[in-house]
Amino acid sequence: MTNMDGQSLHNAKKLVPVPPPLPRSAATGYPCEYLVMNNLAPRGQSSCISSATRDLWERLFNEGYKADVRINTDNGGIVYAHSSIIAVASPVLRGMLKQADRRNRWRSISIFGVPHDAVRVFIRYLYSSCYEKEEMEEFVLHLLVLSHVYSVPHLKRLCEQKLELGLLNIDNVVDVFQLALLCDSPRLSLICHRKIIKHFKTVSASEGWKAMKLSHPILEKEVLESMIEEENSKKERVRKMNEREIYLQLYDAMEALVHICRDGCRTIGPHDKAFKANQPCRYASCKGLELLVRHFAGCKLRVPGGCAHCKRMWQLLELHSRLCADPDICRVPLCRNFKQRISKQSKKDEIRWKILVEKILRTRGIGIASCFRRL
Ligand SMILES: [Zn+2]
Ligand SMILES: [Zn+2]
Ligand SMILES: [Zn+2]
Repeated sequence: MTNMDGQSLHNAKKLVPVPPPLPRSAATGYPCEYLVMNNLAPRGQSSCISSATRDLWERLFNEGYKADVRINTDNGGIVYAHSSIIAVASPVLRGMLKQADRRNRWRSISIFGVPHDAVRVFIRYLYSSCYEKEEMEEFVLHLLVLSHVYSVPHLKRLCEQKLELGLLNIDNVVDVFQLALLCDSPRLSLICHRKIIKHFKTVSASEGWKAMKLSHPILEKEVLESMIEEENSKKERVRKMNEREIYLQLYDAMEALVHICRDGCRTIGPHDKAFKANQPCRYASCKGLELLVRHFAGCKLRVPGGCAHCKRMWQLLELHSRLCADPDICRVPLCRNFKQRISKQSKKDEIRWKILVEKILRTRGIGIASCFRRL
């Protein structure tokens, strides 16, 4: 595959820098088999082009019968064409033809900066919408530039599609990315950008990347920055997910605590309730909490900061009281004591607890159990 080098890209850009707005009734990008000839069909009706018609346009291009335009290309090449046809196919070529030198019946225009064969493939496409697969593969980047510069939207879409659906690869992605930006192909540039980020290690070792570093250092910087941003937002997403998981677990533990103290479960519960030893429990934290409560009840240290398990239990009890909506009828131990202690706490502790409670409630969202619902 021939990649467009920096010089020819520059030339192609210099040739006609700003294409005119796309014509409203631009032909749609059908492959030659399905070319629609709206102007030949009755109004509102379309007909598929026959192979005979297609061959006719192919012959007209190949034989150049009564051609009146010479298109000069790199290295002294010439492509012959019909002014009426290429002028209708491209508004930019029409403008160039108006100003072209005329000698007898011949008008001359020039398309430099891309290989001669790419120009030939381009003009042929204007006639018949036909191309050889190998030529498309070889010249797709040149055709993308030509279709943009000469305002041939259906060819531009075709090139974008061909790249997106297979011709884009790690080796050419940096070139295509730059061309897509130059040719105002937002979708293609986005696809390239994603590919570059995804395969950054390989891409950054490629020749294309090194060339871009030299020719467009700002673009290289932008890509690097967007990659750092992407990495950071990925980390942030993971952090948020982990945080969410913790808050959900805490909420579940809070529900399980109320459930154990109010209903009893398996082996622990209020003295006036019968235990349901082998019943399945819907609270995931219930079993762990049951063990923790058992430990707390029996631990010799049992002071805040005394043993890690007891410390955890104290924290859960305190968190409960922070969440508890009605401590007067609550059956969780120490609920009211903690509520009374809150006023004696330092401002710093107070804020810390407030943030935690808010985060838990926000993470849990709408489905907050009634025992924690605040008035
Ligand atoms: Zn339970
Ligand atoms: Zn303990
Ligand atoms: Zn309570």
